[in-house]
Amino acid sequence: MIRGLSRIWTGWNRHMTDTDTSSTGDIAIIGGGLNGAALALALAREGFAVTMFDAAPLDILVDEGFDGRATAIAAGSRTMLRSLGVWERIEDTTEPISDILVSDGRVSEGASPLFLHFDHKEVGTEPFGTLAENRHLRTALYDAVADHDGIDHRAPVKVMRVEYGTGWATLHLDDGSYHRARLAVACDGRRSRTAQAAGIRYTGWDYGQTGIVCTVEHERPHQGIAHEYFLPSGPFAILPLKGNRSSLVWTERHDIATAAMGLDDAGFGAEVARRFGAFLGDVQVIGPRWSYPLSLSLAHDYVKPRLTLVGDSAHGVHPIAGQGLNLGFKDSAALAEVLGEADRRGEDIGDLNVLRRYERWRRFDNTSMALGMDVLNRLFSNDVAPLRLVRDMGIAAVGKIGPLRRMFMRQAAGITPGLPKVMRENAR
Ligand SMILES: Cc1cc2nc3c(=O)[nH]c(=O)nc-3n(C[C@H](O)[C@H](O)[C@H](O)COP(=O)(O)OP(=O)(O)OC[C@H]3O[C@@H](n4cnc5c(N)ncnc54)[C@H](O)[C@@H]3O)c2cc1C
Repeated sequence: MIRGLSRIWTGWNRHMTDTDTSSTGDIAIIGGGLNGAALALALAREGFAVTMFDAAPLDILVDEGFDGRATAIAAGSRTMLRSLGVWERIEDTTEPISDILVSDGRVSEGASPLFLHFDHKEVGTEPFGTLAENRHLRTALYDAVADHDGIDHRAPVKVMRVEYGTGWATLHLDDGSYHRARLAVACDGRRSRTAQAAGIRYTGWDYGQTGIVCTVEHERPHQGIAHEYFLPSGPFAILPLKGNRSSLVWTERHDIATAAMGLDDAGFGAEVARRFGAFLGDVQVIGPRWSYPLSLSLAHDYVKPRLTLVGDSAHGVHPIAGQGLNLGFKDSAALAEVLGEADRRGEDIGDLNVLRRYERWRRFDNTSMALGMDVLNRLFSNDVAPLRLVRDMGIAAVGKIGPLRRMFMRQAAGITPGLPKVMRENAR
């Protein structure tokens, strides 16, 4: 249940008078998606007055039909969401991932006998991650935002343009008013218009693939096992949800995906079942289906004076390993830590030297993960015999070489060095 749906900006801003059409705050977030909302909470926790704008109405963003995806939340992200007062709001609806099975195959042929088994007990006692349905996560984030006095959530309000001056970034809003902040953060998604208007360029490409997402119900329990099944047109991921349900991310070439999305329920269900196989008994698609065109986009710069980029606006990656949002959460945690420390030292939080600390912290991790996912997708999304041989040899090698296998498992679980404090257990 979303609280504060009607909590529009007029009530909050302490700098406003009845006749003003302007407002001010410490930090303005442009885009209130999953990353924007997590960032707002992380910054408010550091004591900043945060204003978050989203162009879409809140009731659309929390509608059941808006976002059908489920996110594999890594251990560090879970710790962060707990510290931000979000995790306890969704914990009951989540499902831990205890094992991951990776295999290579063809539609209707079943998985190849060569497969990789990642067992979480090899790298610790915690599960690899926890599956959270985005509809629950989004509602929990907005509820936590509404409960925080330091955050003003304004939606629907579109930021039309931003001017960067001495001491302030000025946001011009579609209702004719403007808002001033010491720092603007672009969380407005892939190839951010805010970033591009500030002269930031992007490198990237279309994968020629679409991710079809739906939920299925199956006869037998999944036992917390996630499956990554590599088919010639892309990975087919089966992600365990609460109950006898799984979330599917079925990656296909754009033309096949368009045809699949156009099938009636029976035809679509049959195509899903052909790929899913019979290992969990009968499989039924429940609820609607969604499709997402897949692309890579990497911003050349994460920062400019009084502007910084977080989440997909900085890096849009292939969902092959379910890392996109986890990377964005790391950005939010790192930015909040850098800005909190800078502010306590009396530094200007919009200064380029301060913002570059954040960029140095996050860019390498994001870029290497994005390119790693790119290579993995190229290697597996085809039916070329020599490449099939290489990847089957790779699967066999990772399966046999313990340290290599454990390295992959730590990556999947987000157990990596250099995590911000709010993502580490007992750090603060
Ligand atoms: C099929 C698929 C599966 C995935 N699975 C996983 C997974 O398992 N694990 C994982 O970690 N990640 C996963 N991801 C990635 C993850 O979903 C994204 O990284 C994340 O949703 C991006 O969130 P965001 O808030 O950065 O951007 P967006 O969701 O794009 O939000 C941007 C927001 O900005 C607003 N906006 C835009 N312009 C303006 C403006 N001018 N003024 C005001 N508001 C504006 C928009 O309305 C929108 O709400 C997956 C992605 C896909 C496609």
